[in-house]
Parts: sequence; structure tokens; C-alpha cells
Amino acid sequence: MTDALLSLSGVAKSFKEVDALTHVDLEIHSGQVVGLVGGNGAGKTTLLRLMAGVMEPTKGSVLFGKNRVSNMREKLGVVPESTGLYSRLTAWENIRYHSRMYGIDDDVAWSRVSHFAKMLDLTEALSRHTKGFSRGMRQKTALLRALAHGPDILLLDEPTAGLDVTSARTVRKLVTQLRNEGGTVIYSTHHLAEAQQVCDRIVIVHNGEIRADGSPRELLELTGKETLEDAYVYLTSDKARNRGEDSKDESRIASWWRRFLTGKTPTISEVIEDE
Ligand code: ADP
Ligand code: MG
Repeated sequence: MTDALLSLSGVAKSFKEVDALTHVDLEIHSGQVVGLVGGNGAGKTTLLRLMAGVMEPTKGSVLFGKNRVSNMREKLGVVPESTGLYSRLTAWENIRYHSRMYGIDDDVAWSRVSHFAKMLDLTEALSRHTKGFSRGMRQKTALLRALAHGPDILLLDEPTAGLDVTSARTVRKLVTQLRNEGGTVIYSTHHLAEAQQVCDRIVIVHNGEIRADGSPRELLELTGKETLEDAYVYLTSDKARNRGEDSKDESRIASWWRRFLTGKTPTISEVIEDE
């Protein structure tokens, strides 16, 4: 396999007494669409913010190639939970403002964006002020803004949350199109079915750590379950940890997974038999 584009090793992040992430080792390779799947409070946004280089880990390192990701932010396109558009600017002005900060010529940004705007059916709206935009239109504008400077990786935090069926579908189509063009996308969601539809690889985040990592088929094989939902429930089935109070009380299965994922015994069949 090629060298990883993004690598996280031994990453932990705490906010005062809250351990948002306890231990994460993860590599992202070029051309993958990777889903970060987990419930509310699992640590998905924290993980994406660390990958985006907008926050430093408490422990461990986050590298883009061989450099700290915080020094390579121009390589990343980010669509955060809250789009943060300037309502007094038009959609295109919002996008242009962002791409100019990266030193991109307006013509170059426009040629990148117009291609995707057509796909998102947003071309007409680009000249409108974003004040009054629907959630779907805001989200699409934020997607174009993230693509305008030509990033190597796109990081999307719950990009379809709160979107109507058609807009959500369009966003998923865009991700699939990017993948078909060889792009790399990291996509957080709490919808397992959506991850199954869009992602080549699913990383299950639970209680601040990675419980499993593989293609949908691999997750089924690993757990011996028939549906991904059953596999997910199985992998996250220990009692939810009370963050900050008993964070040292790591569950049995979590420690198994960690040892398995880091290549330190036991084998997966031992894990499953034992459970
Ligand atoms: P998710 O995106 O999966 O819902 P988050 O990464 O937002 O999860 O949150 C993980 C945990 O970290 C939660 O317990 C959350 O309350 C806590 N957390 C996240 N960001 C902060 C912050 N800036 N300050 C304090 N706690 C935070
Ligand atoms: Mg979140």
C-alpha cells in the first residue's frame, strides 16, 4: 500500500476533565472514502478537527505525509458542523473570500467550483446572498468553499445532517463523484446505512476510541453478523462509559479491539469466541 496521506498515532484529546479521545491510531490513504461512524459524543468531531489541524492533540501526533498537519492546512478542505457563512456576502463571494486566503486566483477557483456547483444544482444561487439560504444550500456552499482551493483530502462533519432527502442524496452523489475522480474523503455520520452507501471503509468511533476499522464486508466477517447494524451494535455493546469519571475503566472488548488493531494479539477469532 502507498504511504498514508494522513496518519494519527497514539492520539488522545482531553478538554479539562473530559476525555474526548482516549487512543487513536489511524491511517488514511489516497483514493479512499472513509466513514467515521458513531453516536453523539463518540468523538467524531474532535477527531475531524484534529485531522484538519485546527486543534492540537493532548497526546500523540497527526501528520500529513511527514509534516504536522497544522502546517499543511491548505492540503485539506473542511466542511465543519456549522457552515459559518457570511450572510452579507453571496455564496460565490463566500467561496472566493476563502480561496483568496489560500492565494488561489479567482478564475482557478471558479473553474473548480462551477463544475461541482452544476452537480449540486447550486449554480443559480451562487450570486445570491447566503442570508435566508436553506440548510441544504448552506451545506452545498460550504462544500464548494472546501473544494475551491483544490485540497488533497476533504473532511466532512455530518454533511447530510438536517438536509432534506434530495439534498442529502446530492451531497452523497458528490462524494461518490469525488471518489470516482480519485479524491480522498473522510466523512463523519451517525447513519450507518449512509456510511455503507458512500464509504469504502468504515471506522467505528465509540467512547473516544476506534472500535473497528474495515470495509462493510470486513466488519461483517469480523463480527460474524449478517447486517452492519448488528455488527455495529455488537462492537459498541459495552455499557457507555461515564466520561471523565471512570475513563480508566476501559471495557474488555475495547481493549481487545485496540490490541487487535495494533497487531498485538489476540486474534479476531479469539475475540469473537470469547465474547
Ligand atoms: P461527536 O462529534 O461524535 O458527537 P465530539 O467530538 O463532538 O463527538 O465530542 C466528544 C466528547 O468531547 C463529548 O463528550 C463532548 O462533550 C466533548 N467535547 C468536544 N468538544 C469539546 C470542547 N471544546 N470542550 C469540552 N468538551 C468537548
Ligand atoms: Mg459531531
